[in-house]
Amino acid sequence: MSPERPIATAPRPAAPPLDVGRIRADFPILERRVHGKPLVYLDSAASAQKPRPVLDAMDRAYETSYANVHRGVHRLAEEATKAYEGARLRVARFLGAGDASEIVFVRGTTEGINLVARTYGARHLGPGDEVLLTGMEHHSNIVPWQFLCERKGGHLRVVPVLDDGTLDLEAYERLLGERTRIVAVSHVSNVLGTVNPIREIVAAAHRRGVPVLVDGAQAVPRMPVDVRALDCDFYVFSGHKAYGPTGIGALYGKASLLGAMPPWQGGGEMILSVTFEKSTFKPAPHRFEAGTPDIVGAIGLGAALDYLEGIGLEAIDAHERSLLARATEAIASIPRVRVLGTAPGKAGVLSFVVEGVHAHDVGTVLDLQGIAVRAGHHCAQPLMDRFGVPATARASFGLYNLPEEADALAEGLRKVIEVFGG
Ligand code: PLP
Repeated sequence: MSPERPIATAPRPAAPPLDVGRIRADFPILERRVHGKPLVYLDSAASAQKPRPVLDAMDRAYETSYANVHRGVHRLAEEATKAYEGARLRVARFLGAGDASEIVFVRGTTEGINLVARTYGARHLGPGDEVLLTGMEHHSNIVPWQFLCERKGGHLRVVPVLDDGTLDLEAYERLLGERTRIVAVSHVSNVLGTVNPIREIVAAAHRRGVPVLVDGAQAVPRMPVDVRALDCDFYVFSGHKAYGPTGIGALYGKASLLGAMPPWQGGGEMILSVTFEKSTFKPAPHRFEAGTPDIVGAIGLGAALDYLEGIGLEAIDAHERSLLARATEAIASIPRVRVLGTAPGKAGVLSFVVEGVHAHDVGTVLDLQGIAVRAGHHCAQPLMDRFGVPATARASFGLYNLPEEADALAEGLRKVIEVFGG
């Protein structure tokens, strides 16, 4: 080996720290005050705030190049179609997909999972067959499969969650069986912050010929994702959690799978020909996009992905993990506070309970201090049952959060304890 060549085992250089002050200037909403206090927004896992470049891209689209897509021959229709299809290409590149035709625009993660359950699932699940989920799934990765099983006479099987919030991978291997027709698993848990070992999960499923759908709602905004490296068959995410607009998200599906799936919603845009006797359909992805799509939403999503890449996903990941570590340490010394989810390498989501205080009361007292956290079951009731709690409070970090805001959370929790009796 020549001495100039880099050593293969050299550690990757650490991502440079984020210039959070500069980033915050891109988010007008962060200037707000709440109850007279500066806003501390720790609810990005529910929905992230939107930076100026996303807002501007959407305004520009409406102000200068807006028309319906695909069907028009006039100039504005061409421009809008180019921008919409450009956004599809943008999503494909962002996810590492092989081709833009592997990206279907959907309303969000929920709709993407419903699409796969209603099309791929309906075609491949029969009586007695199984869908394998995990105990940490969001309701949107449970209920569509329940509908499918009810219609087709199938069953849900569930990989248990261990006490630290990791998946029981030995149980996973055992549960993958003759009757498993699809595995559906979250990349990052919205409650525990656990980052699941998707590559291993996919490899084990593929050894048995079973495809895997990954719910990437919490991963896409905070870490690099490469669907080809993961080798997953389907990957879904929501734009609004990735600093883009609401009402838009994307489903990635391997070309070989999407190409063989029947359409699900019928209408304009998805057909090749229609007679009263019979209709024929466009190839993927258009066959899955009936009706006028969220044109400007897609453009906004493209701008959001540009924004994320401009900052760098590795740097965002490192930033959020450092905030998580700081907040976790800061709240560790507060009596009666218990953290749910202690998986090694977890992402920037911090769920906790305060003994003797309902999560909603925790959230309300924090809100009075200008601190926005989520309180409730986080659309993961089976996971709440697993940990024996009705609800948790959850702080989640975004690229715009400051270390002082992690400290503010701890201060806020001390106030909660004060209010509800120390
Ligand atoms: N999956 C996970 C892990 C989530 O956190 C969420 C939203 O909280 C969803 C799915 C559903 O996303 P949406 O409501 O945008 O469809």
